Amino acid sequence: MSFVKSVTTKYKFGAHVSTAGGISKSVLNANKLGCQSFAMFLKSPRKWESPPLTDEEIDKFKLNCEKCKYDPLVDILPHGHYFINLCNPDEEKAQKAYSQLIDELHRCEQLGIGHYNLHPGSALKGGSVKLQLKQLAKYLNKAIGETKFVIIVLENMAGKDNIIGNQLEDLRDVIDIIDNKERIGVCVDTCHTFASGYDIQSSLESFNKFWTQFDEIIGFNYLKSMHINDSKAPRESCQDLHEKLGQGFIGLEPFRWLAHDQRFEKIPLILETPHRDDNGYGEEIELLQWLETIDDPENEELKFKVEELQKLGAKTRHEQQAKYDKKQAQQGKKRKVVGGDILSQLSKTTKKKKVKPE
Ligand SMILES: [Zn+2]
Ligand SMILES: [Zn+2]
Repeated sequence: MSFVKSVTTKYKFGAHVSTAGGISKSVLNANKLGCQSFAMFLKSPRKWESPPLTDEEIDKFKLNCEKCKYDPLVDILPHGHYFINLCNPDEEKAQKAYSQLIDELHRCEQLGIGHYNLHPGSALKGGSVKLQLKQLAKYLNKAIGETKFVIIVLENMAGKDNIIGNQLEDLRDVIDIIDNKERIGVCVDTCHTFASGYDIQSSLESFNKFWTQFDEIIGFNYLKSMHINDSKAPRESCQDLHEKLGQGFIGLEPFRWLAHDQRFEKIPLILETPHRDDNGYGEEIELLQWLETIDDPENEELKFKVEELQKLGAKTRHEQQAKYDKKQAQQGKKRKVVGGDILSQLSKTTKKKKVKPE
């Protein structure tokens, strides 16, 4: 199936595409899906080592970008290797992650790519977020010093306390320590945002409230891209489970708000939704471009689409809701036990006091 790149959209909707057959192929893959921007891995996401890029492959990549009208400085945002954890308290492992980062940043610059998406990482069990966040910033400063132009774009995360970037404040704290602020940015993933507890879904007011918060804490000038994903798990679940647009707990409407917001016009808006093959992305890009044209929230076609997609995701949502409720109930029980202990201790001391003479 082939999709046509829209000439009317104001937004850079795109997707994370395959690099099968070489990195230069990713450009053609993106073009075939109608992407205005795209992401890919620079190396195999399952291995640490990959052979260096050949001059031939670099030339082909650049030529394909020209042919398909992508500006690699602003339209392409490769996703960093999942193994890279610059926050690792084990210094040897952090050092290995740093070498990997440098290798990937060099690849970006060889290809003329201007932005690179990185997960801030995890302080791991027992690690201090405050301390490891400083370690991350130290490595980023070093990496910026060792490269020429590529901007490192930190992604906000879903997850528990030791994950750095599940709160906007974490990203701000890292940016604060970066010497060259021209070389650092942020990518907001809608699924991660929602799963971390931010309400970007229940009303246009709450959606805008999040972005006001984002602007106050981090600043819009740092927003370099977004990942456009629905969420299989409920808000505050801390679960990083991407869902197809409209089928998850976020639903379709927030993506329509997004497609009517000038603040997101110039940046890559990249789908990372689960699909059996890339054609699913082509369809979702068309869906986003369609949402861009629907101004009236009461539009009948829109209502039909919202309902249709929610039905498709209903089973998964119910399963995930049940899991979430069970976990909450277990945590609630634990809290009750603790509370009970405190209460019984208190009553013991009161009793003791009572039996005291006087
Ligand atoms: Zn990511
Ligand atoms: Zn993402």
